[in-house]
Amino acid sequence: MSIQVFGIQVSRGVAIGRAVLVASSRVDVAHYYIAAADVPQEIERLRLARNAVADELEVLKVDMPPEAPHELAALLDVHLMLLHDETVIAATKNWVRERHYNAEWALSAQLEVLARQFDEMEDPYLRERKADVEQVVERMLRELTQIAPGAPTAPPAAPGPSASVDGGAGPNRAAGLASAAAPAPARRGAAVATPAAARDFAGEDPLVLVAADVAPADMLQFKRSVFTGFVTDVGGRTSHTAIVARSMDIPAVVGAREASRLIRQDDWVVIDGDAGVVVVNPPPIVLEEYRFRQRQSELERARLGRLRNTPAVTLDGQAVELLANIELPGDADAALAAGAMGVGLFRTEFLFMNRDGALPDEDEQYEAYREAVQAMRGLPVTIRTVDVGADKPLERVGAAEARHDHGLNPALGLRAIRWSLAEPGMFRQQLRAMLRAAAHGPVQVLVPMVAHFSEIHAIHEAILRARQQLSDAGKAQGAVTVGAMIEVPAAAVVISRFLRHFDFVSIGTNDLIQYTLAIDRADEAVSHLYDPWHPAVLALLQQVIAAAATAGKPVSVCGEMAGDPAFTELLLSFGLRSFSMHPSCVAEVKQRVLRTDTRQLAELQRTALDADAPEAETRAVRGRLRL
Ligand code: PEP
Ligand code: MG
Repeated sequence: MSIQVFGIQVSRGVAIGRAVLVASSRVDVAHYYIAAADVPQEIERLRLARNAVADELEVLKVDMPPEAPHELAALLDVHLMLLHDETVIAATKNWVRERHYNAEWALSAQLEVLARQFDEMEDPYLRERKADVEQVVERMLRELTQIAPGAPTAPPAAPGPSASVDGGAGPNRAAGLASAAAPAPARRGAAVATPAAARDFAGEDPLVLVAADVAPADMLQFKRSVFTGFVTDVGGRTSHTAIVARSMDIPAVVGAREASRLIRQDDWVVIDGDAGVVVVNPPPIVLEEYRFRQRQSELERARLGRLRNTPAVTLDGQAVELLANIELPGDADAALAAGAMGVGLFRTEFLFMNRDGALPDEDEQYEAYREAVQAMRGLPVTIRTVDVGADKPLERVGAAEARHDHGLNPALGLRAIRWSLAEPGMFRQQLRAMLRAAAHGPVQVLVPMVAHFSEIHAIHEAILRARQQLSDAGKAQGAVTVGAMIEVPAAAVVISRFLRHFDFVSIGTNDLIQYTLAIDRADEAVSHLYDPWHPAVLALLQQVIAAAATAGKPVSVCGEMAGDPAFTELLLSFGLRSFSMHPSCVAEVKQRVLRTDTRQLAELQRTALDADAPEAETRAVRGRLRL
């Protein structure tokens, strides 16, 4: 039966594929295709993991004190039985054999199928057995991280390597321990299809990811992954999960509440990223319509791609700077390919994630920043100091972190510059890395969430100290300009005074909207009130842009509004000439710029600032002016 699920559109276009359901707690499980030749070896990994867990459970049983409740032994027996159950093991092998999923992915895919079956059981006792299957699978997943892919395969047991998983005695655990000597895969970070294996994969169906929730750090793992689109139950349009998803440039819908419950493993799913709709198992005629739209949007992209080398200049000759937002140094290639004239926002906090708490030291950060600077070949790179906290928590548990974790409202708590100033050693370490990278090309240092004058003074002091430390150590450093993100209304209100202390400012509309309207940007329950068109937001934007012009200081917008073509003319009318966005948005915004005559925007600006309902009223003006 075909159903539709409605959510919030994140990134444009249409994706059509088979659903891969992933429980939130397992999104960091590695997802990659294996080559056909590696199927036996992957099945062997499953066998080793299963045997290791069985050994573990046997030891627990033997060591159980006599006074332990009798139910505990019975529970271990149930878990041991599940380890040999066909619906767990044999079906998992099928995912490996038929789909060429890696072992972890196959196991979690099968778990999702079983979990669904348990959820639908009438008998409460049987329904509760789901927890047992989950525990057994979790144990196996943990074991699998110890068994490296590509590790020497243990001798096959008759009649063939795959049969051994189902119950053949097979080689003992020592084989598994020996293979674990090969480098174990990272706990996270393997959600990537190796291109060779993907090519080798016989099944051609594209895949879309369906999950209740995906943390920004996990979403980062899905960059360059096998998925061509994704849907989550929670999240707002400018949640960091959505932002990372947008940077992947694949159709996505968030806040689709019931999606992960309604969609089943392997269902055919259409993700309409333009409308924020997910169609599950569409009838052939609907599917055909979406395929048509998919082809149209590919043609449109190809057409826009031809603007890559065209300078962004309005009809009346105003040059506009289009910059890129990046999360990792490797994204600089996409920025250049899109024709961006520099990086307007490098969100460095993503370098601090997926590391099991081990934060990057100065040298590692320096290498990352230098890589981005060199990749941009002389174009400016704006590196933002770390913006952790709120929906981008760190795994590390330090003093400041512990305080943050227990904060009542993380969006109002110890995040961004507040976190950096609470960790002065780490802040200076990051500043030193940036200053060293500046020796290789133009760097601008950008500080997030500045709201207090005491913070401004502390920032400049920290930069001075970092400079001094580098010269004491005889390390090369370059000149930098220093800017503040204007994303707290307090900073926007006193913008003229802020501008005295900075070389430039960049408006973070994602947070500016959140804090002006008191709407959590990651909460889909209030996402209908998260309104970039709110007159208060537009008034603050106009005020900051005008104040920067008066002060003769550069101003940019680097929030999602900059990449949304619905706002291009309005921002131009405010006097904005620098926009920073996901590389995938550059071409469309450029097209708007090329078609705009800024001399005709007075009415649009007036309407936006005076109207009670600016979105509808400016749309009418645009229609009349044929913008
Ligand atoms: C913003 O708030 O607009 C911004 C660009 O920063 P982030 O989205 O990373 O909070
Ligand atoms: Mg922000």
